Amino acid sequence: MVTSRELGKTRLPLWAAGFVVLTCVAILGLSAWREWEARNADLRNAEIDVTNLAQSLIQHADDTFELADTILVGLVHRLEIDGTGPDTILKLQAYLPTRKSSERIRGIFIYDATGRWLATTEHLDFSKLNNSDREYFQRHRDSTDAGTLIGRPVKSRSGGQWIVTASRRINDSDGGFAGVALLTIDVSYFVKFYERFDIGPNGSASLLNDSGIMLARSRDESGAFVGRDLSDAPLFRSWKSRPAAAVYYFKSPLDGAERLSYYQRSSRYPLMVLASKSQADVLAPWRRAAAARMSFVLGLVLLIAVIGYYLVRQLLQRQRTAQALVAKEANFRLLAEQSSDMVTRIGLDNRLLYVSPSCARITGWSAEELMGTSALAGIHADDMERVEQAIAALKNGEAEEARFVYRQRHRDKGEIWVEAALHVTVASDSGVIDGVVAVVRDMTEQKDLQDRLASLATTDGLTGLANRRAFDDHLADEWARARRDGTQLSLLLIDVDHFKKFNDLYGHLAGDACLRALARILSAQARRPADLAARYGGEEFAVLLPNTGPEGCAEVGEAIRQALLDLAMLHAQNPPSRLVTASIGGAAALPSQTAMDSSTLVAAADRALYAAKESGRDRLVMSGQVIAWPAKSA
Ligand code: GH3
Ligand code: MG
Ligand code: MG
Repeated sequence: MVTSRELGKTRLPLWAAGFVVLTCVAILGLSAWREWEARNADLRNAEIDVTNLAQSLIQHADDTFELADTILVGLVHRLEIDGTGPDTILKLQAYLPTRKSSERIRGIFIYDATGRWLATTEHLDFSKLNNSDREYFQRHRDSTDAGTLIGRPVKSRSGGQWIVTASRRINDSDGGFAGVALLTIDVSYFVKFYERFDIGPNGSASLLNDSGIMLARSRDESGAFVGRDLSDAPLFRSWKSRPAAAVYYFKSPLDGAERLSYYQRSSRYPLMVLASKSQADVLAPWRRAAAARMSFVLGLVLLIAVIGYYLVRQLLQRQRTAQALVAKEANFRLLAEQSSDMVTRIGLDNRLLYVSPSCARITGWSAEELMGTSALAGIHADDMERVEQAIAALKNGEAEEARFVYRQRHRDKGEIWVEAALHVTVASDSGVIDGVVAVVRDMTEQKDLQDRLASLATTDGLTGLANRRAFDDHLADEWARARRDGTQLSLLLIDVDHFKKFNDLYGHLAGDACLRALARILSAQARRPADLAARYGGEEFAVLLPNTGPEGCAEVGEAIRQALLDLAMLHAQNPPSRLVTASIGGAAALPSQTAMDSSTLVAAADRALYAAKESGRDRLVMSGQVIAWPAKSA
């Protein structure tokens, strides 16, 4: 069972990817949260602004209407005590302008119970004017309420401009309806006042009465908003349940903009003030700054993500490479350690970097002992140069692999023959040759077998002498050498006499023994290292004597014949000695003096042998002595 760690696989790329994603998400999350906080802070500040504004405006409205109320209360009090007789009215007409001391007040009017004008601060002829059609007039006539009524804005009958009215009922001495005292304030007075405050391009300040009628609105010089009935707007629909003052977010029914506002009801008059700013205006600076900041943050996150992506990819790639390497290494080890061959890795300094366990069997030393030692230690001195050259050629890149057989010292067995197959290794990252892998196999047995086979191929099995093939090769070599050196070369051909009969008489095994005995004699007589005794075929033998003339040749031949005779092996059918004898033909040649090849020497020796047979057997005949070919007798 192989765990993922062993294969070089870790969770590192996963962790790295997780970290990068987490970093990106954290940066984005923190930035978004910060921006949200900044946005909310801006809204809070705007809320404080509109709150302050609304409180100032309601104060202003209260003061204005309080002034109006004071005047009205004074007038009504006076009229109720003095009545509306012509004297009183005359005096009043003179008195009224003194009351209109403030620019806030547009005009003051007194109407009788029928709506007829009794007195006014306006300079006009009002004898024919009647205001009984006005809403405030009818409300005062129909209600005994003595409080001040703030009516809806109306277009002034005297001046034509928009005005807000404050009015009070005048009672007669019985409490019956005696008329109305009215005071008007120009809507433009409020509008001008509201313009002093900076509430942004789309902000607004509005003054409304408690039934949702717009009395004045900032930036409304044309009077487009004055008198609008907003009682259907959400703010007024739940009017009763609302607190007297609060922050209020809404979508304006007038211009459709999202607004944040603060409304405040007057504690004294049926009035309220609404100060609002456009959310878009409030948040515009934040939007611009946030967009700039967020694009910077996004750029940063993108950069981190891209770098992270490349890092993770790099990690994955490395892991794959490492995994492949580990797998390769595992395969290599498996092969190396299961192999009966010794597998080694050799560094550029010829030190052993790795030795497989089978080295113990092949060299007698353990892997631990060999590790780090020289790969060339123990190589036979005669083979060293060859091996060194082969390794150098591999390391220089001249060859990719090499195979050779050499002798190596074994710890216990002495010298052994090994075959090495060498292959260069290349660093996986740089592609540079970084060493050599050698597979070394014990060849000693094969080498012995080879040697045996080689000797079998050249040796005669019965006698142990060189066989005919070896003789032929040797003859050709010696002939060539003698020709080069200008030396003589001699040959003896030896044939056992009447051997067929010997076999017949004593059996084939005795025949074989006889041949072996003769072979021993030949080996003993061919004394010089270059001499070669061979079985030429059947019971026929040859002795090749390099650097030997006819005399030397005859001497050896005679010695052989005599030695055989001296053995005195019985051969009843070989008269006259009745011992085993042999006939010998000898020939000598000077190859440098003839153009002919070695077969002439054999032919000459053969003819001499034939002559020896013909002339009575058990003798040596040299080629020079060869007697004329006898006529073949029947
Ligand atoms: P000659 O005197 O004319 O040489 O007569 P010979 O009988 O020796 O000649 P021949 O060539 O007719 O006979 C050779 C005999 O040698 C025939 C064969 O039976 C015998 N012979 C050849 N090789 C061997 C061998 O390896 N072992 C034995 N025992 N006999 C062999
Ligand atoms: Mg023969
Ligand atoms: Mg014979």
